[in-house]
Amino acid sequence: MSIELPEAKILAKQLDQAITGKTIKEYDLKDVERMIKIGFLNEDLSEFKPIKDKKVIGATSRGNTIRVQLSDETNILIGPEYGGVLTYLKEGGKVPKYHLKLVFDDGSILTTRITSMGIIYAVPDNMITKNYMYKRDFLGGVSPDEPDFTWEWFRQTIGAENRQLKPLLVGKDAHIIGVSNATFQDVIFRANIHPKRKASELSEDELHALYDAIKTVVSERLEKKGKTEFTDIYGEKGGYVAAMGPNMKNQNCPRCGSAIEKLAHGGGSVYLCPVCQKE
Ligand SMILES: [Zn+2]
Repeated sequence: MSIELPEAKILAKQLDQAITGKTIKEYDLKDVERMIKIGFLNEDLSEFKPIKDKKVIGATSRGNTIRVQLSDETNILIGPEYGGVLTYLKEGGKVPKYHLKLVFDDGSILTTRITSMGIIYAVPDNMITKNYMYKRDFLGGVSPDEPDFTWEWFRQTIGAENRQLKPLLVGKDAHIIGVSNATFQDVIFRANIHPKRKASELSEDELHALYDAIKTVVSERLEKKGKTEFTDIYGEKGGYVAAMGPNMKNQNCPRCGSAIEKLAHGGGSVYLCPVCQKE
């Protein structure tokens, strides 16, 4: 399942509490050839060497990306955007499958496994702005959980676009960060909007419903500790169920009872109610 803004924020907060102040004594990388080939890992693995013996200064996130900041201007960027699992073993113990394993000076272990599209990069401070996900998420866009995500901004920016909604909300050219295809399906269903409609053709009420849906989904997911498919670094499951998405396959719309349909859209699939979300 995808790790979007809420889940990335939960993970970063937990990491910040769990590993800040600890020193990385050892690291190990697995399945590196495949990971490098698809661009999920530094092409030059020696770029990981500087993380050894570095102390964790803290962990933060913005959008879907987690930054673990280390001493001596070193960082690990983790972006399990379309799927990934981070596991923290306080007392060591049985290590799950991983792509990156960190062993700290107190014997605790952190593993990261990318299960779909995502990244694990070791990056020094002076190179960090060159990283695609860091650039997109930490430097770009407005984040739905930050104060500048206002209705006025949304109305003026999104509402003025004579384009379909998805590229405005999802991906590298989006106006907002932290939203992937999963949140997109959820919010347009909540706002009763068909994915093929153009932003500029939405009524003010529809646009407002979309804005509210984005805020609601992000805050509810944070409150419920992530989606039900998500597990935090301690293995605890989240409690948020998407109003629309793959979980609604072969189901009926909870509002009108119509059969949910799946539509190929914008390089992915979108589940929708053909009655509530008219084209
Ligand atoms: Zn419906």
